[in-house]
Amino acid sequence: MKQYDYLIVGAGLYGATFAHLAAKKGKQCLVIDKRPHTGGNTYCDRIEDINVHVYGAHIFHTSNKDVWTFVNSIVEFNRYTNSPVANYKGKLYNLPFNMNTFYALWGVKTPDEAKEKIEEQRREAGINNPRNLEEQAISLVGKDIYEILIKGYTEKQWGRKCTELPAFIIRRLPVRFSFDNNYFNDLYQGIPTGGYNRLIDGLLKGIEVRCNTDFFADRQYFADTARQIVFTGNIDEYFDYKLGHLQYRTLHFETEIRNCENHQGVAVMNYTEADIPYTRIIEHKHFEFGTQPRTVITREYPSEWSAGAEAFYPINDERNERLSKEYQKLASGEANTIFGGRLGEYKYYDMDKIIENVLAKEI
Ligand code: UDP
Repeated sequence: MKQYDYLIVGAGLYGATFAHLAAKKGKQCLVIDKRPHTGGNTYCDRIEDINVHVYGAHIFHTSNKDVWTFVNSIVEFNRYTNSPVANYKGKLYNLPFNMNTFYALWGVKTPDEAKEKIEEQRREAGINNPRNLEEQAISLVGKDIYEILIKGYTEKQWGRKCTELPAFIIRRLPVRFSFDNNYFNDLYQGIPTGGYNRLIDGLLKGIEVRCNTDFFADRQYFADTARQIVFTGNIDEYFDYKLGHLQYRTLHFETEIRNCENHQGVAVMNYTEADIPYTRIIEHKHFEFGTQPRTVITREYPSEWSAGAEAFYPINDERNERLSKEYQKLASGEANTIFGGRLGEYKYYDMDKIIENVLAKEI
């Protein structure tokens, strides 16, 4: 007799949401996580009375009303709107690419002038059918923006040439011919009031959770304890890497307390030049409009993943896409295991997509 209906491996957003919905339907769940805390990469530490996004900044945004209603039923969200600033060789530009950016770059003041400038650069480049990120970027916003705001940042982020990356990564970023610095096009956006831990704690309320518990340390025991497994770890590890290793990007963070109230005036400052080794500096208090006397900042350094490091991003190149499809084929043959989340599916999901996927599951 199995003790649980579901063993959920990983207490991140996917696992916590799944557990919440399953428990609501009267299912017995056990959630395990190898880390000492729940929340996966949304986890926040409290430093100087500020919620510090320990595993990188998370900004919730969605156009899906069901998803927004669901997360707001767990915790209230604030009105934070992401408007990052890019710093290139000491000069500042608004993101995403919009009239403020075009004005700072070229002095153009109208949408027509900006479009003409981009069109001119696009013509010069002669790209009709973009095959990679570089060509996609140049054909969307022209060579200047590509060189100043995209190339260095993207190559640092992914550790690969823009010519070797797929075009879709850059399509995440809006291009606007209005003076609108909102990074996202989504209808809804915000940060849980009081931080992400409140969202995760709300989801996991009343559910049995064991932290510091590694599924792979006693796989058979865990498999025997539940009727179904929900696996949100690395899909290649689940299959003992039998088709080979998938690659990931990892991040390294340098967090510092600053003895001033406001260090950079914005939550996210991207450093888009190649010579600066970090991609961005996060000033955490701005996510929640903090007025604490001091501030906490984090520099974010991307690097290639190796065993033992935290896997943050799946790599979107041909080799990894192909290999992950092979693993997904194996996964569909595992009748008693559901694979979910960024690592379980090896997909560059945003948080709202994770919730959407769980809401669509038959539990
Ligand atoms: N990007 C860029 N310059 C920037 C910010 C983003 O070129 O200043 C590109 C880059 O290729 C990056 C992609 O846009 O990988 C997506 O960025 P986003 O900020 O959405 O990534 P995430 O927050 O998921 O790390």
